[in-house]
Amino acid sequence: MLLTITTTRSPASDLGFLLHKHPDRVQTFDQAYGTAHVLYPEADEHRCTAALLLDVDPVKLVRTRGRGTPDFSLGQFVNDRPYAASSLLASAMANVYRTAVRGRCDARPGLAETPIPLEITLPALPCRGGPGQAERFFRPLGWEVTAERVPLDPEFPSWGDSRYVTLTLTGTLRLADALNQLYVLLPVLDDAKHYWVASDEVDKLIRAGEGWLAAHPDRGAITRRYLANRRTLVRAALGRLADAEGAPEDALDPVEIEEEPPAETTENAETTETTEATEAAPAAPEEPKASLAERRVRAVTDVLGEEGAGSVIDLGCGSGKLLARLLKDGSFNSVAGADVSFRAVEHARRRLRLDRPGPSRARDRVADLFQGALTYADDRFGGYDAAVLMEVVEHIDPPRLGAVEKVVFGHAAPRVVVVTTPNAEHNVRYEGLAPGAMRHPDHRFEWTRAEFRAWADRVAAAHGYHVRHVPVGDDDPEVGAPTQMGVFTK
Ligand code: SAH
Repeated sequence: MLLTITTTRSPASDLGFLLHKHPDRVQTFDQAYGTAHVLYPEADEHRCTAALLLDVDPVKLVRTRGRGTPDFSLGQFVNDRPYAASSLLASAMANVYRTAVRGRCDARPGLAETPIPLEITLPALPCRGGPGQAERFFRPLGWEVTAERVPLDPEFPSWGDSRYVTLTLTGTLRLADALNQLYVLLPVLDDAKHYWVASDEVDKLIRAGEGWLAAHPDRGAITRRYLANRRTLVRAALGRLADAEGAPEDALDPVEIEEEPPAETTENAETTETTEATEAAPAAPEEPKASLAERRVRAVTDVLGEEGAGSVIDLGCGSGKLLARLLKDGSFNSVAGADVSFRAVEHARRRLRLDRPGPSRARDRVADLFQGALTYADDRFGGYDAAVLMEVVEHIDPPRLGAVEKVVFGHAAPRVVVVTTPNAEHNVRYEGLAPGAMRHPDHRFEWTRAEFRAWADRVAAAHGYHVRHVPVGDDDPEVGAPTQMGVFTK
């Protein structure tokens, strides 16, 4: 991961004073999750560039899996974190340039207070929402923004673009302001949510956002993403921003706070990681997200009702959205949920208010809510009229899919199984999603309608089910609906 900061304000090598790092030396700083190097590829009177190179050690990253590291929950050895600017780079930057971030420079006090011409480059920034999102966040702060998508492989343009952008910011700002903006906006653009969001993050955000965040037109979105959508934290932060100097009048207006499900995970990354369960691809459309997730919950609930399923288990329940819906509907007298992610289960528990004392009609209908992996037979999955796998199969590594089939259709074997999964053909309708790209970085595959049908037919035949297919979302005449649903019945 690389971040370069260049100034052309003469004498440019004063950048060394501002950053408290001597231009003639290569310096190395140990971080909990790797090593940060600061070096100056160029440093003369007219132009000086400081490069911060962060070498992430995936093994260390896994070993330090504690709340002290921003990426603590990334329990995978294989991921893009070592190469992509993210919360790790932001945290290393804040650590290595600590004094500069605070705006202090004893050797050149006037300079620290002065806006200077700056050029900042990040060659590989994971950027949810694509280049346009980076522009929206940085431009109001006075930056000229160049953001370009990085192709997956320049040799093979037909493979399309990756989810990274090369970002260059040019502007005349105080160095401390620039660093604080990066500190907040790098993880916000990544939006991978694999850092631990503790309540002191609100303080950190307010501190780093001083002088620019309160007046930012996107302060709501930035705050939500930064705080991983933790409602109470977001509210607290927005309240404090509204009180801040420079806050526009409308800052006091309530900002809509959508609750996003917690990070969804894969079975080998237990407590992580990347996203909302609403298939928000990094570059995927803003619009279809919420509404499609809602329509999916509705479609699944409807079909369970039609099938007369009184008891239902939601396998890979995520944050429990479907469970909450089923509990609202009196026709489901017993509901249960399971997920491999402990965090997801905890989130669902809170959503269903199982953590509160006292009797409740809804709570009494929750038969079970537990952590469990669909790749291993587990008696707790059985005994319900229906099982749901909503947007789960595409998170399973293909070699493990056979195990999941056996566990669900062979071992638990309820009367009804409902499976939903993205329809890959529909992806061309998502502006900003590169051709061939998937909707979510954790998806192991996305099936076309024919592929889903072939899988469903085979599984149904092998386990004595009949399957019918139902489109969910607007059924496009050419490419089909965004979500495909298979309803398996015995
Ligand atoms: N059904 C939810 C969540 C979908 S995201 C919804 O539609 O909103 C996929 C979920 O599957 C995640 O919560 C993830 O933790 C879970 N998951 C992935 N692999 C799993 C496995 N092997 N066993 C159980 N759950 C798994």
